[in-house]
Amino acid sequence: MTYDVIVVGIGGMGSATAWQLARRGQRVLGLERFDIPHAHGSSHGISRIIRLPYYEAPAYVPLLHRAYALWRDAEAATGEELLVTTGSIDASAEDDKLFQGALASARLHGLAHEVLTGAEVNERFPGYRLPSSHRAVFQPQGGLIASERAIIAHVRAAQACGAVIQARERVLRWEASPTGEGVTVTTDKATYAAARLVLTAGAWMGELARPLAGVAVAERQVLAWLQPLRPDWFGPDRFPVFNLQVEEGRYYGFPVYEVPGFKFGRYHHQEETGAPDTLLREPDAADEALLRQFGERYFPDGSGTTMALRACMFTNTPDEHFILDHLPEYPQVTVASPCSGHGYKFCSVIGEILADLATGDGTTRHDIGFLRLQRE
Ligand SMILES: Cc1cc2nc3c(=O)[nH]c(=O)nc-3n(C[C@H](O)[C@H](O)[C@H](O)COP(=O)(O)OP(=O)(O)OC[C@H]3O[C@@H](n4cnc5c(N)ncnc54)[C@H](O)[C@@H]3O)c2cc1C
Repeated sequence: MTYDVIVVGIGGMGSATAWQLARRGQRVLGLERFDIPHAHGSSHGISRIIRLPYYEAPAYVPLLHRAYALWRDAEAATGEELLVTTGSIDASAEDDKLFQGALASARLHGLAHEVLTGAEVNERFPGYRLPSSHRAVFQPQGGLIASERAIIAHVRAAQACGAVIQARERVLRWEASPTGEGVTVTTDKATYAAARLVLTAGAWMGELARPLAGVAVAERQVLAWLQPLRPDWFGPDRFPVFNLQVEEGRYYGFPVYEVPGFKFGRYHHQEETGAPDTLLREPDAADEALLRQFGERYFPDGSGTTMALRACMFTNTPDEHFILDHLPEYPQVTVASPCSGHGYKFCSVIGEILADLATGDGTTRHDIGFLRLQRE
């Protein structure tokens, strides 16, 4: 059996890509080394933030508009609720990149938004206790994506269009024909052939695509869920998702959703990088203390007893922008490293982009020049 496209890694990005390819009539094989879904990679922990006024760079905003539309498309295809609207807060000192960048994106792209002081945020959303002189961009379309459920939904949708998805099968190596068409993929169970290959291996990308070795670097993260002392202040209807820069670092957080706890984490947690299979998977007392200290200071009514801790991995590029491209030597091989701690919200549109790159003449209508291997 040969396939049109083999997708390696059926996590957040791979599951969306498999669906986008299969719905175009491509014969797709998806290979995943762990379970579907699982808790060893980058997409577990129930939820991920989606937000429009992108402080990282305004060039992401058009992709975000398409991501929203495709999340709704996936909901319609599967009958699952995947995107929950809560509003978003991006807050920092007035002169910090977080507030200034969010404001610039909101203005440039004409997004509905309000500028609030920290004191105004605290009054409107009583779970928050921000420094009163902070500045925040409130954007009403922000929210969360049910990340683990979305992987299942994308896989179900892909299978309904004929995709073959195989879990517990690890890709050991691949070979590509020098003519630009044709690949073979060898796993711990079999060898497969296809015209094209998409590598969406998350933290393991460096092992499968040589140009990404040492460029896409895995980093350990930890998430905390704490029991709110005022549960009515921490539901999705009264507690917007947030990105927050304070003197302790940059943090992000969520309302109570599925797990009975207010959830948050610190970007680059304790700055522990390394080979993905060697990073510590079990959270410890130091992880808990670091996160509780933040929760108790800025969200005191959310910071009751610990409900859960979970370790997860970022895959960081040097400039913290994604990598989406063909391999220069092998145009039939597409690589994706869309993490650096902010990729999940884009899964839906990245699935579409990777399907574009892996079919036809390999072009996409999306503006991804700033995400190519050689930045444009
Ligand atoms: C704690 C945390 C919080 C985050 N918060 C946010 C957020 O709020 N908003 C946001 O937008 N983003 C967020 N991110 C980033 C986001 O989660 C990632 O961008 C996204 O999960 C990356 O998806 P992926 O498909 O690349 O990786 P994964 O979902 O990990 O998928 C990669 C898959 O490849 C498989 N694989 C690897 N090697 C092989 C092999 N040899 N053979 C077969 N399969 C293989 C893996 O097992 C895995 O399933 C967060 C990340 C973390 C860790």
